[in-house]
Amino acid sequence: MILQISTTHNPATDLGYLLHKHPDKFQTLELSVGKAHIFYPEKSEAKTTISLLLDIDPIDMVRGARNLGGDGFALGQYVNDRPYVASSFMSVALSKAFSSAMNGKCKDKPELVEVKLPFEVTIAIIPAPKGGEILIRKLFEPLGYQVDLTRHQLDTKFPEWGESKYYTLKLTHTITTKELLSHLYVLIPTLDNDKHYFVSESEIEKLLQKGEGWLNDHPEKEQIIRRYLINLNSLSRLALKRLSEGEEMDEIDDELAEQTEKQKRKETLHDKRIKLVAEKILESGAERVLDLGCGEGKLIRQLLPKKQFSEIAGMDVSYRELMKAKERLRVEEMSPKQKERITLFQGSLTYKDQRLEGFDAAAVVEVIEHLDVNRLKAFERVLFEFAKPKTVVLTTPNQEFNVMWDTLDADDMRHDDHRFEWTREEFSAWATNVGETYNYTVALFPIGDEVENIGAPSQMAVFTYGN
Ligand code: SAH
Repeated sequence: MILQISTTHNPATDLGYLLHKHPDKFQTLELSVGKAHIFYPEKSEAKTTISLLLDIDPIDMVRGARNLGGDGFALGQYVNDRPYVASSFMSVALSKAFSSAMNGKCKDKPELVEVKLPFEVTIAIIPAPKGGEILIRKLFEPLGYQVDLTRHQLDTKFPEWGESKYYTLKLTHTITTKELLSHLYVLIPTLDNDKHYFVSESEIEKLLQKGEGWLNDHPEKEQIIRRYLINLNSLSRLALKRLSEGEEMDEIDDELAEQTEKQKRKETLHDKRIKLVAEKILESGAERVLDLGCGEGKLIRQLLPKKQFSEIAGMDVSYRELMKAKERLRVEEMSPKQKERITLFQGSLTYKDQRLEGFDAAAVVEVIEHLDVNRLKAFERVLFEFAKPKTVVLTTPNQEFNVMWDTLDADDMRHDDHRFEWTREEFSAWATNVGETYNYTVALFPIGDEVENIGAPSQMAVFTYGN
C-alpha cells in the first residue's frame, strides 16, 4: 500500500522542509502492526514526490487481537485486504511520519506553512464500500480536489470475473500542507469499513482537531463523522454537538433521528425473523436443537428460556462470532444446569460432521447466502443426508426486495460477504428440489411486510422429514 505526494511548487524540493523529511534519506518507522517506509522516488526543483509505503504485517495484527477484517471465513484473520489497502493504518502512519507538518509547523522555513502548493496525491489502493465512487467524490470534491479514480479488475487474467471494490485514487489541489494532511487523515478511514482500533471518546478529540477549519462546513459532515466513528450513534452525536457548539441542533437531530429510525427498522426485520424461526422450532416439538451459523447467538437467546428445549447447540465457522455469542449469552454466569443445556462449537456447514447428528431440529438463519454456490451441494448433503434432523428451518434474503433499499445499488447485494441472493422463485425451486432429493416436505413463508410483485424482505423454508 503506497501513498505518494507530489508537488510542482517552485522549488519543489521545499517539500522536504515542509514534511521534515530529508530527500536523500530512506527512513523507516515502526508501527504497532508493521512498518512505514518513507522515500523520494523523484526530487528536482521542478517536481518532487515523497512516498509513504506501508508494510502491514497481518500476523502482528492477529497477535495484537485487533479488529481483523475478513469476517465470516476461518482464515479471515490472516487472509484479508489490510496489507494492501489504505485503511485507518494509513492515518496512523501519516500522523507519525508527518506530525509537525500536520500541526502546521515548519522549523526551517516557517514562511512555507501558509503557502498553498500545487499537490498531486496518489493512493494505491483504496477500498470503496457500497456507494463506492460516488462516496469518494462526495468526500473530496467539496474540499476543492479534482478526483481521478481508476477501478481495478478482480483479476486481470480473468476479466470475466468483473470489477473489484478497489481503486487507485488521484487527488489534485492547490492547498496548504497542513490542510492536505488533515483531509487525508480524516477521510481515508472514513472510507474504510474495517477499523482496527477501538472507538473511544479520544477518537472524537482527534477528529475535531484534524477537522478544524473545514469539517464543520463540509456538506457530508454527518456522514464523515458517522463513518469515522464507525457508525456509533452516541459518539457521532457527541462529536456533532461539539463541532457545532452554539449552532442550531434541530436539523442535525432530525437527521440522526431518521438514521436511528432506519437502524431500528433493520433490527426489527432481524428480530421478526428470529422470532418466527423460534416459533417454528417450538411448534415442531423439538427438544434438541441446533443453530447452524449461529453468529453471536441471537436465536439461541430466544430459545434458552423455553423449557421445551433440553439441549441447544450453536455452530459457527467463525471463532470470533462464537466468542461474542459466549459473552452475549453470559454463558460463564449461568448455573451449572443451564450451562449443561448449551454447547457452542466451531465447524463448517460444508463438511460432514458427527457432532451435527441426533438433533430434532436445526435452524440455518441467513447463512446459506454466505456459502459459495459450488459448496451448496456439500451443505445439502451434510445437513439433509447425514445430520438429518426431523425439522429444518432455513432463511435467506429475498433478492427481489433489494430495490426497496435506497442505500443499495441495483445489482448490489445486502452484505459484502454474500455470494448469492435468491428471488422467491429461485429459493422455492431450490427448496423443492432438496425436499424431493432427501425426502422432506417443504413449506415456504415470507418474513417481514410483503410488497406487491416484490414479496417480503426475507424468506423462510420449513423442511419436515418424511410424510
Ligand atoms: N444466524 C445468525 C448469523 C447470521 S450471519 C443470525 O441470524 O443472527 C452468517 C453466519 O454464518 C456468520 O456468523 C458466519 O460466520 C456463519 N458462516 C458462514 N459460512 C459458514 C460455514 N461454512 N459454516 C458455518 N457457519 C458459517
